[in-house]
Amino acid sequence: MTKQKGITAKKEKNFSEWFTQIVQRTKLADLRSNVKGCLVFQPWSVLSMEKMYKILEENLQRKGHKPYWFPTLIPEENLKKESEHIGGFTPEVFWVTHGGKKKFEEKFALRPTSETIIYSMFSKWIRSYNDLPFKTYQRANVFRYETKATRPFLRSREFYWIERHSAHSTENDAFNQVKEDMQTTKEVLHNIFGIPFIFFERPAWDKFPGAYRTFAADALNPDGKVIQQPSTHIISQKFSKAFDVKFKDKDGKEKLAWITCYGPAISRIFASIIITHGDDKGLKFPWEIAPINIVIVPINQDDKKIKNKAEKLKKQLQKLTSVKIDYSDKRPGEKFNYWEMKGIPIRIDLGLKDLQNKKITLFRRDLDKKIIIPEKEIVKEIKKISKEFTQNLIKKADKVFEGRIKNASNLKEIKKIIKQGGIARVEFCSIDKEGERCAEKIEKEVGAEVRGTKLDEKKKSSGKCAICGKKANHIVYIAKAY
Ligand SMILES: [Zn+2]
Repeated sequence: MTKQKGITAKKEKNFSEWFTQIVQRTKLADLRSNVKGCLVFQPWSVLSMEKMYKILEENLQRKGHKPYWFPTLIPEENLKKESEHIGGFTPEVFWVTHGGKKKFEEKFALRPTSETIIYSMFSKWIRSYNDLPFKTYQRANVFRYETKATRPFLRSREFYWIERHSAHSTENDAFNQVKEDMQTTKEVLHNIFGIPFIFFERPAWDKFPGAYRTFAADALNPDGKVIQQPSTHIISQKFSKAFDVKFKDKDGKEKLAWITCYGPAISRIFASIIITHGDDKGLKFPWEIAPINIVIVPINQDDKKIKNKAEKLKKQLQKLTSVKIDYSDKRPGEKFNYWEMKGIPIRIDLGLKDLQNKKITLFRRDLDKKIIIPEKEIVKEIKKISKEFTQNLIKKADKVFEGRIKNASNLKEIKKIIKQGGIARVEFCSIDKEGERCAEKIEKEVGAEVRGTKLDEKKKSSGKCAICGKKANHIVYIAKAY
């Protein structure tokens, strides 16, 4: 048997190499397929992402969003209907031009996103205010011809997501949907997956193609770069006009619907999960989405008593969660390292001495600590740990994140914070068109971006723009991005 390679790169010192080792050595994905920019997702990531899908879909369904499966092929005609949208997406579209040997008169796009097919159906389904709000979502893979460097889970040409689309009768209802999306993101990404983030309204110059208002969550990587997580948009009414999404209102008048969409990318969120919680030993899965929650390592596995005990424990604990016994021919020490690297929440080390003393030794990956408990308390203890586990990961992650947001009042201070891998919070003239020049100056001199404003910002700006010195209308956050 070949010796399992462990993680040797340090997360804080060499994040990029650490991430590559994590992906390959814990077998999250195989990058060796001959499809450029795409990867083979392996069981250790798929099992976890299936759980992520389930949690997110259940949350959406609870809030009244209904699942649909729309075609992957989108006729070019649909994409062309809204000019800003097609302008924004054309460079990234994979085109299907042939069916067998026959060349299509009109080509199809492999969905880069599904607005243009979903809204064309909205126009057939929505008639009156009684039909609104109309709430749909689908889980799907999407295709984008990325020309920037691809990175597993973070940016690839095919990725996995949920897209939620809805139509509403008023702008206010649409805005409430956007707020619900932010709440959903908090409930799932933060409270279950343990990812700290800030939800920003993006500046006028950084909106989704065809959006009227764009809101997006930014998470932070150890190299000081933010990574965009779900975004939610109030779509420009040009869309409802282009796709004829109209309804007869209570006053008898025909009106254009207000449309919103929200796109949590499961594979990319998975990246933030492993980046946020992983350490120099390897992965650390939140309890709720671990591929397997408990591994039992029989230390003297040829001993019949140990084997019986392992099987008995497995049966008992399987009623609570997923359990696996490691009977491989590795030495116990290798098995310990291996499962720590794989990020299994709890390991049970089963030895003869414990068996005689009616004790059980547990290793908790949340605290990286061994504990010894009386055998009869095992079920109670696992139940207790399952409730604390993710909370411990969240507390730690939040502390790191909050420590990296710092106030700055001029370009020099912004530079310093960015250089230290932080996010700078500054007074800024405007996130409308007129502020773009100041944003460009920051980009040029610091290599960082104005990510936007926080909707729930407590303090309102009263000072001067840190860049141009004019009256500041907004407080913005500045960070490096991928
Ligand atoms: Zn300014």
